[in-house]
Amino acid sequence: MKYCSECAKPLVRMIPEGDDRERYVCEYCNTVHYQNPKVVAGCILHHQGKILLCRRAIEPRSGYWSIPAGYLENGESALQGAAREALEEAHACACDLRLFGVFALPHLSQLYMVYSGELRDGYCKAGDETLEVGLFSPDTLPRQAMAFQLVEKILQDYWADHAAGRQRLYHADVISEPQAPLQLIEHEPAQY
Ligand SMILES: [Zn+2]
Repeated sequence: MKYCSECAKPLVRMIPEGDDRERYVCEYCNTVHYQNPKVVAGCILHHQGKILLCRRAIEPRSGYWSIPAGYLENGESALQGAAREALEEAHACACDLRLFGVFALPHLSQLYMVYSGELRDGYCKAGDETLEVGLFSPDTLPRQAMAFQLVEKILQDYWADHAAGRQRLYHADVISEPQAPLQLIEHEPAQY
């Protein structure tokens, strides 16, 4: 952030009075520009023993597979955002969504909310931000071409729960160090 969105003057980094960390501050109009984590909402959509994945046409991780997900828009709920992403990325109708897990990614300043539900009629078709879509069983998952380690882990838990006929609510904090495998601090999953 370089310029004030209120008065277009250059910004400085400083700790505002009464605050405890640096912010972007406009010294001309005294606006403090707070930056806070973004919420990403996504969904695991199931149809007849398979789930929907999208091969990403956009960075990060273009060309790799993930579940439909994206930043929340202003004015929508996390659940609405997850359903919208499925529609946008895969022309997919999400039914019976329930919260699957909440994952904090402090290194990216993101909160990831994942829902699970049913893919209506098993219908999907690549949207603008997607190269292709596909339905995958646990055996046919494109493991070498998954976009995000966290999503791989989420899908492992999803299929384990599916096999066991249980529904759990996951809650974890993700620790990521450069070049190191992803680490999760998992809080005890809650049973539905
Ligand atoms: Zn200003």
